Amino acid sequence: MFRKEKKKINLVYDDDLKGMLRKLGVLDDFAQGRKKCKFCKNIINMKNLHSLFKESEDVKFVCDSPECIKKLLTYLK
Ligand SMILES: [Zn+2]
Repeated sequence: MFRKEKKKINLVYDDDLKGMLRKLGVLDDFAQGRKKCKFCKNIINMKNLHSLFKESEDVKFVCDSPECIKKLLTYLK
């Protein structure tokens, strides 16, 4: 019995970023600079955060560099 795991990605949007990060359980890590861009591995902060999404149970961050935004769009297709 094999079933291919479907890639589960949810883009997350919220005006209340901090509240959302808290809800996702990543606010502390984020505030302490422990969250990195999924693609370029730069540390994510409030200034360079472009978007975040849930992949399985993990929260992924993407910075606002044009390269990473392009990769994100490809990735989400
Ligand atoms: Zn990046």
